[in-house]
Amino acid sequence: MKSGEAIAIVGQGIAGTLLGLELEKQGAAFHVFGPGPAASASAVAAGIINPITGRRLAPAWRIAELLPLARATYRGLETRLGVPLWREMRVRRWFRDERERRIFAERRESGELLPWLGAVEADGFWTEGAGHVDVPALLAAARQRWRERGCLTERAIDPRELRQCHGLVILGTGAGLAASAVFAGVPWRLVGGELLTVAVPGLDENVILNRGTWVLPLGKGLAEVGATYEPGAAEARPTAAGRTRLEADARTLLGRPFEVRDHRAGLRLTLPDQRPAVGRSALDQGWGVLAGLGSKGVSLAPWLARQWWNHLSEGVPFDPAVDVSRFAAAPNISRIT
Ligand SMILES: Cc1cc2nc3c(=O)[nH]c(=O)nc-3n(C[C@H](O)[C@H](O)[C@H](O)COP(=O)(O)OP(=O)(O)OC[C@H]3O[C@@H](n4cnc5c(N)ncnc54)[C@H](O)[C@@H]3O)c2cc1C
Repeated sequence: MKSGEAIAIVGQGIAGTLLGLELEKQGAAFHVFGPGPAASASAVAAGIINPITGRRLAPAWRIAELLPLARATYRGLETRLGVPLWREMRVRRWFRDERERRIFAERRESGELLPWLGAVEADGFWTEGAGHVDVPALLAAARQRWRERGCLTERAIDPRELRQCHGLVILGTGAGLAASAVFAGVPWRLVGGELLTVAVPGLDENVILNRGTWVLPLGKGLAEVGATYEPGAAEARPTAAGRTRLEADARTLLGRPFEVRDHRAGLRLTLPDQRPAVGRSALDQGWGVLAGLGSKGVSLAPWLARQWWNHLSEGVPFDPAVDVSRFAAAPNISRIT
């Protein structure tokens, strides 16, 4: 990296924000371009990191590495940005059916859940060491800081214009990449997601309730309920079907009356192998990317941002499991200009 040359970061969601904050911490010159949170997945993200996830009740991918780095990063940012961001959480998980009960018994027996497994109940189990990040507070604090320091342009921009005057342009544009000419050969996929904000009294603020659908207590008698997962969604739009499903699940999980206060939707960007993408374009090394965070932006972004810094400062190769070059053979990657 040439010293003094500002790296352009496009997008100020979780990806662009964590990347900017990492570069700032390391003293590298950067400038962020992004219109703010509206219409981004990060504006909807609940901010949960759950070490044991999904129907497979398996440890999340690389979680033993990702979770400690995420915790240290967000706690460090609390001090740097002067806002509370991180909450230690526990997860009370209920089995949805006999199949889940059986899978859990096998995984427990194998010992792979041990670092995070808490008490086991007749109808489910507890996960320890989960976390919650206040994503809106993080994005707002970074925005304010960069506004004051003159390293933020608050509007959407055609990245190709930036490439003419920046040696490196890194795209953290989330779902926008699916329609972008840059990295067009990467098989991006969109997955819609909806969540509700509900008013419900009496929840333990450090416990996430989970039965496939989760309830995240926010404090002050509010909670979020989510999230739906709709592969192939073309737009971020709250639907009647999504609301009906989330309300039904919330009734089961909460077992008491609640009132829906808000209903939001976002578009996640994913890849067929369910891994994110980081690295440079094989065609033009001046294009970089940090995207495809799927449902796990909060835990993945600090790790991917650190990979960018290790690469820029010491030439460390990107982890092959997430390097965007794994899609280099994609047929239309040449649509870069
Ligand atoms: C309902 C729901 C719940 C979720 N809950 C969680 C959760 O609990 N935990 C978790 O880890 N993840 C969660 N996620 C996933 C999380 O939202 C994503 O992984 C993450 O937000 C992706 O961040 P990003 O920065 O890559 O993309 P985005 O947040 O979409 O940000 C991209 C940004 O780029 C900007 N942009 C696009 N084009 C341009 C341009 N040309 N110029 C400038 N800017 C541009 C956009 O405006 C946007 O601000 C959830 C997602 C959904 C939908």
